[in-house]
Amino acid sequence: MVDGDYEKILVKISEKSGVNKEELNRRVEAKRTKLSGLISREGAAQVIAAELGISFDNEKIKISELSSNLRKFILVGKVIDVSPVRTFQRDGKESKVANLKIADETSNVKVVLWDDNHIRLIEGGDVGIGKVIEISNASVRGGEIHLGSFSELKITNQLLENVNTSKVFQEKKISDFKPSDNATIRAFVVQVFDPRFFDVCPECKKKAIPEGSGFSCSEHGKIIPEKRALMNFVLDDGTETIRSVLFHDGLSKIGITDLENADSLLKQKQNLLGKEMFFSGNVRINKFFNNQEFIVENADEVDLDGLIAKIENK
Ligand SMILES: [Zn+2]
Repeated sequence: MVDGDYEKILVKISEKSGVNKEELNRRVEAKRTKLSGLISREGAAQVIAAELGISFDNEKIKISELSSNLRKFILVGKVIDVSPVRTFQRDGKESKVANLKIADETSNVKVVLWDDNHIRLIEGGDVGIGKVIEISNASVRGGEIHLGSFSELKITNQLLENVNTSKVFQEKKISDFKPSDNATIRAFVVQVFDPRFFDVCPECKKKAIPEGSGFSCSEHGKIIPEKRALMNFVLDDGTETIRSVLFHDGLSKIGITDLENADSLLKQKQNLLGKEMFFSGNVRINKFFNNQEFIVENADEVDLDGLIAKIENK
């Protein structure tokens, strides 16, 4: 279950019924008590919606409104990325899978196609970057849209301008991480390693290659390299730990501003240890260790006052 799904459902029911969220939440809890807690909050919210005569079937929604409880929604998005079709063996038979990314003005999302009829649309070039598609009868799993043989994929003439193509980080637990996830976690720094330095080309920022007594770039020839740093640390969100990396420009976001002075570096490292923050980044496989690592792009302070206010308002 993606965090915030329950909240999204309440907002939707509130919009359609005119009953405020607090009252809906009370009814949901009452329903759950009556059913001895055998039903999830999300499930109970659906029951309350049905009692209010509200149906979400065949409703057009925006990508930002997607939640894993939704069924029978209709989604329109512009294709902003297409991955090559992959083949794999299932039950001794060759099967195919294809990935797309679609965007609307609110957000973007990965779409996974499992049905040969849909995949043929990609192979034939009917579905490609810039095309606007309409999806229905799909399911939402792990923040992705999955289309099986009962799902529908249509090309539409609808125009979609100003789509949101910026990277979307999904709130996740480390134990649910999969390679290439863009995730946000709330975690503690439990281990901090010393910075490591490397040299890059000042022009293109690619790794500088040692050559004779100097350095060169495969593109820019002989160069005077720039020194860059990275730091490894271990994050723990209570479900698991993960080895994480933060590169040069991002280091200040976790309070590392002085790499030169050993004393001040030690102090900065000590300050970091045990600190809880929101970390956003990309999950990838470290080929050397053959395990997952987290390439951190952003670190934000945990705003405790804001969180408390949010909880009290529920
Ligand atoms: Zn270069």
